[in-house]
Amino acid sequence: MPEGPEVHREADNIRAAINGDQPIYIYFHHEHLKPFEKELAGLKVQNVEAHGKGLVISFEDDFHLFTHNQLYGKWYIKPAGSYPKTNRELRVEIRTDQKSALLYSASDIDVMDGESLVEHPYLSKLGPDLLKNPTPEQIAERAADDDFKRKSFASLLLNQGFLSGVGNYLRTEILFDSQLYPAQKPKDLSDEQLIRFGRSALVITRRAYQTGGVTVKEELMRELKKNGTKRRDYRHYLFGRAGKPCRVCGTEIQKLAMSGRRIYICDACQIHQ
Ligand SMILES: [Zn+2]
Repeated sequence: MPEGPEVHREADNIRAAINGDQPIYIYFHHEHLKPFEKELAGLKVQNVEAHGKGLVISFEDDFHLFTHNQLYGKWYIKPAGSYPKTNRELRVEIRTDQKSALLYSASDIDVMDGESLVEHPYLSKLGPDLLKNPTPEQIAERAADDDFKRKSFASLLLNQGFLSGVGNYLRTEILFDSQLYPAQKPKDLSDEQLIRFGRSALVITRRAYQTGGVTVKEELMRELKKNGTKRRDYRHYLFGRAGKPCRVCGTEIQKLAMSGRRIYICDACQIHQ
């Protein structure tokens, strides 16, 4: 499932392809959106922005297209009027003179005005987006808030109202980098530990955004690649590496299920309480 870094990269690609242009053709698969095909064609694209795992493309005249990829949604950018080879179903096409931005398989798609956008059930509940420069102190403060401080980090990190854009691989990797055990709760940590958590959340998420999903440090990635390590094994410190040695201390990595999703831990690196 795409997490914040992947959706932000998709937004970058769509922005580069169509922002500032006037689409000459718009297609919507869903019946309730059909009336917007004509309405939006010819209106200038004014902004393309990721919000957590959601994406908003804004047009002139206060029209906003909201999409959420859920599990399978995927955007493609192609030369105008051409399509990728895929068995997926096309849900949205925004075609300018030069490019087509094509969304496949997503089902959570809507067009609304600015006022409805602010009240959108997904967007209105989002916590700070880690790719929009909150500070470690702000994240620490949020974790210490009454709404969140009694919950485990395992559940908080999947709660888009706490921090938006974090999903399952980032959850494992952020906790590893913070040296926190998933069952720990903000109320049991010192201010210093909370700020370290905030710093890790930012560093790991930004790294994943810059590298296209890799969470290990660049030096380590280069070294592992040189040794012929495959992407699925060099990409993360712990995620997806059950039974293999921790990259930092060599302890065998364990896989657990927490808040209904798989999570990986190193018992030696993460403080067990
Ligand atoms: Zn370790």
